[in-house]
Formats: sequence, C-alpha cells, structure tokens
Amino acid sequence: MHIYDYIVIGSGLSGISVASKISQETKNILLIESESTQGGSNKPAAVKYQNNNFTSDNGLRFYPGSPLAEQALKNLENELGLKLIQSISDNNPETYDASGFKAFVGFGDNPPEFYNEISYFLNQKEITLTLPVYKIVELLKEKYQGETITKSFMTGFRFTDDVLTHVVVNGSKEYHAKNFIFAGTVRDLSVLLTDEALSPRAKTKLKKDTTWVGLCLDLLHEGHAVEKHNLFVLEGTTNDSIGPCVGRFMQPQVDVNLQISQWMAFIDLETSEETENIGEVLKKMKRQIKRAFPEMADAIKAERLFMTPALSSGELKLNSNGTVAKINNLWIASGQVNQFPNLLGSILQSQFVLSSLGFGGVSVTPGEERTEAIEISEELSL
Ligand SMILES: Cc1cc2nc3c(=O)[nH]c(=O)nc-3n(C[C@H](O)[C@H](O)[C@H](O)COP(=O)(O)OP(=O)(O)OC[C@H]3O[C@@H](n4cnc5c(N)ncnc54)[C@H](O)[C@@H]3O)c2cc1C
Repeated sequence: MHIYDYIVIGSGLSGISVASKISQETKNILLIESESTQGGSNKPAAVKYQNNNFTSDNGLRFYPGSPLAEQALKNLENELGLKLIQSISDNNPETYDASGFKAFVGFGDNPPEFYNEISYFLNQKEITLTLPVYKIVELLKEKYQGETITKSFMTGFRFTDDVLTHVVVNGSKEYHAKNFIFAGTVRDLSVLLTDEALSPRAKTKLKKDTTWVGLCLDLLHEGHAVEKHNLFVLEGTTNDSIGPCVGRFMQPQVDVNLQISQWMAFIDLETSEETENIGEVLKKMKRQIKRAFPEMADAIKAERLFMTPALSSGELKLNSNGTVAKINNLWIASGQVNQFPNLLGSILQSQFVLSSLGFGGVSVTPGEERTEAIEISEELSL
C-alpha cells in the first residue's frame, strides 16, 4: 500500500497553490480533482464570434484593494517570480435609476440578503492584475511536480483508531497519506466527515440557512457601446425581485470592434437547483441591464452563462493552525473558511496553511467553479 506524504483535495487556486509549493519539497504528493480539468472557479472561458476568438476569466471580476490583499499578492509574486499587481486605483461604482446614472453610495438601510457576497465589489480601491487569474492558476499548475488524478470525487474521509489515514474517491478507491489538505467546497464537509470527526451540531452550523451562488452572465457586444469601465450596481425594481446585479464593461480587445460586459446576480443554492428558477433570474437580470443600457441591446451578439459553486458556507471551527478540531492532520485551505469569501480569501488561506505546515515564511494572517459552463448560446434578445 502506497502512503503519500500529502494528499490535496481540490485543484482550484487554493489547492494548486498549496500543492505546487509542497511539491518543491516532496514529490510524494497527490492532487485529487473531481472535474476533468484543474482550476476550479478560475478556468479560462472562450468566446468565439465569427472569426474572433477571445479567452478571459469566466464571469465578473473585481479585486478589492487593501494592504492585506497587496501583501498576499506580493507573496504570490515571489512564489511565481513575476509581477501580478498592475495598479491600485479608485473604484467609483455607479448605479442607475429613473433619473439616470449616479454615484453608488451604498444600500442604506435596505441591504440585499446577499450583502456579504456583493459588498466587496463596493470597495473604495481596486487592484488590477497583470494577468487573468486563470493564467496564474496555469503557472502554478506548471510548477506542480506531484501526481494528479482528475474526474475523481473525494467521497469520504476514513479514520483508523481516530487518526485520519485515507480518503475514498468515487465511492470505492482508497488513497492513503500522512497529511491531508482540503481545498474543495467547505459545505460538503458536513457529508464527507463522519459524526465522530464533526459533530451533528457542527455540521448543522456548517450547512447554514442560506447559501448563495453567483449567476454570471457574460455578453459580447458588437462595437464599443459603453466607454465606461467602472462597476455598475443595477438595482431591482418592484417587479424585479432578484435584488441588485453588478457588472462592468471590459476594456475592448485590441483592434477588434467587439466588447465584453460581465454581470453577476445571486440566487440561493436551493432555488438554483431548478433550471427554471435560473431562467427566471436571468430574464430579470437582462431586463435590469436593458433598462440601464437600452442602446446596447441591439449590439449584443452572444452570451455565456456560468454558475459559481456555493459562495458561502456556515461556520466551521478550525484550530489556530488551520486544522479541523479533533483531526490534527487535516488542514482546510479553501478560501470559503477565510473571512474574505473571494479570491483574496483563497490566496490568504492557502498561504496560511502553507506557513502552518512549515512551507515558506508567509507574513500574512488569515483575516477568509467549481464553475460550470451551463450554457453557451448564440443570439440574445433582451
Ligand atoms: C465566476 C466567478 C467570478 C468571481 N469573481 C470574483 C471577483 O470578482 N473577485 C474576487 O475576489 N473573487 C471572485 N471570485 C471568487 C474566487 O475566484 C474564488 O473564491 C476562488 O478563486 C476560489 O478558489 P478555491 O481554490 O478556494 O475554490 P475553487 O476554485 O472552487 O476550487 C475548488 C476545487 O475543488 C474541487 N472539488 C471540490 N470538492 C471536491 C471533492 N470532494 N473531491 C475532489 N475535488 C473537489 C472543485 O472541482 C474545484 O476544482 C469569482 C468566482 C467565480 C466562479
């Protein structure tokens, strides 16, 4: 029976960051990924329109600036040996109502239920990266020197005499290791861990009442209909009960008379399980976009839709070194356990786990898609 030094579960930004660093010390490491390709939420998304091919990050992106974010990105820059922070600039989001566009100053006394998911888009400072995040993931993948198995869903942790010894993959195959790093969907731990390892009470807390997923709509426009590239918060009307959606127009691709805009709305996980509910939210989102930008409706040539994985989970108590209570060889690297439920959280959490495992002197402390392309369609009529 082979025993790995480390098994890393999940090959998103968090998992691949941890795996690539550890593999510089030991190649006796296994990376387990449930999908057919690595990258998780940060896979490249391709658009083909007539003779034009574009690749971009899938869905709307905004990276809030803060000293913590800068420090975490600088650690990643050192790891990769290249510059990642292009600039840090002011973010001046705008909103739209009957009187036209105006500066967005907040939700006042009436924040949407998914405020935690949307609030980081409203940060005063924005970091622009030199590379799309999917490219950062690809660079980390190139650095990784251990074994990888894909299409391999880790379906359970197994213990021998109260010690975590192996994981089960696709319901039957067993993989043994001395240390385990989980960088998958945190909510799933309520099923993956036995009641002895995580009490039923802790599991209930982890599942939480409402878990949000992001519905990301990317639009391809002919011409450069909107010159502004700041963030827009499009508030719902009384008929649009989905609440605000956020989005922006991307800088046009060089010399091509096409522009991409990316939008995001939120829907709770349970509601998202019915396809018709997703269709309903999408329709309302398009109505919000059309109301604010009627002139671009005719210019839209293609759309693509992504669902994020569960963006939030409930509370999971970890030990001060990032291990799960009672299991001293299981670390959680997923951004979802970090106080920032976004890209920063994934970078911080993976750096924190690495430092607590003794890999690299990381000076930040943790403060906190699977993306599935469910549709790529041709013509869009708003
Ligand atoms: C469309 C979209 C837009 C976003 N926009 C922004 C933004 O603007 N700003 C920002 O800061 N953040 C944004 N984020 C969030 C950010 O990208 C993610 O929080 C972060 O990159 C997640 O990385 P991760 O490695 O923690 O998780 P993930 O990328 O979700 O990776 C988890 C991986 O684990 C795998 N996995 C899960 N469970 C198992 C299992 N049991 N067995 C095996 N494999 C498993 C999954 O298949 C996946 O590959 C966005 C995310 C998406 C999807």
